[in-house]
Amino acid sequence: MKATPRKGPRNPQPGEWTAAQYSKQYVASYKPFNFVDGEGVRCSLYVSGCNFACPGCYNLAAQNFRYGKPYTQQLEDQIIADLGQSYVQGLTLLGGEPFLNTQVCIRICKRIRAEYGHTKDIWSWTGYKWDELMQETPDKLELLNLLDILVDGRFLEPLKDLTLQFRGSSNQRIIDVPASLASGDVVIWRNLKR
Ligand code: SF4
Repeated sequence: MKATPRKGPRNPQPGEWTAAQYSKQYVASYKPFNFVDGEGVRCSLYVSGCNFACPGCYNLAAQNFRYGKPYTQQLEDQIIADLGQSYVQGLTLLGGEPFLNTQVCIRICKRIRAEYGHTKDIWSWTGYKWDELMQETPDKLELLNLLDILVDGRFLEPLKDLTLQFRGSSNQRIIDVPASLASGDVVIWRNLKR
């Protein structure tokens, strides 16, 4: 019998997918000094590999865990140097799926906190919903604790809306991570306009 095509993204069980199992620590792209991946001027790191397989994914090639090049010390040093420019507000992690590449993402976030404290902010996109992350593996929670802003949830094509700030579909939320962790509930980013 022919399999019915899947209509939406995949939905993992808690802890079903791990970075240890999937990540090859590859980077699809690094884009310094851009204005589109969050608030202010930002440096964006696109890690490789994502299992959600959202129909209409904006970065299909980066679903492959071996797309691009390995993350290197040289790239990390470049990111840290770029973030040192006074007009850069912070780093953005995208993919692919940052939470299935926690080895790379935790490493760069920790270095930013060590060198810049909270004078630079860190945003990340993820296909996981906030409530799913709360039930996930310790490395995912460690990464979450290093972030300022999380844009959560799969891209859902039926809810696609190009007028939204920094999101592709209306189910996705821009979440203030420290405030949400402190209150135990999702707190939306205070600068949200739409
Ligand atoms: S979560 Fe993002 S990168 Fe992954 S398949 Fe969905 S849209 Fe693509």
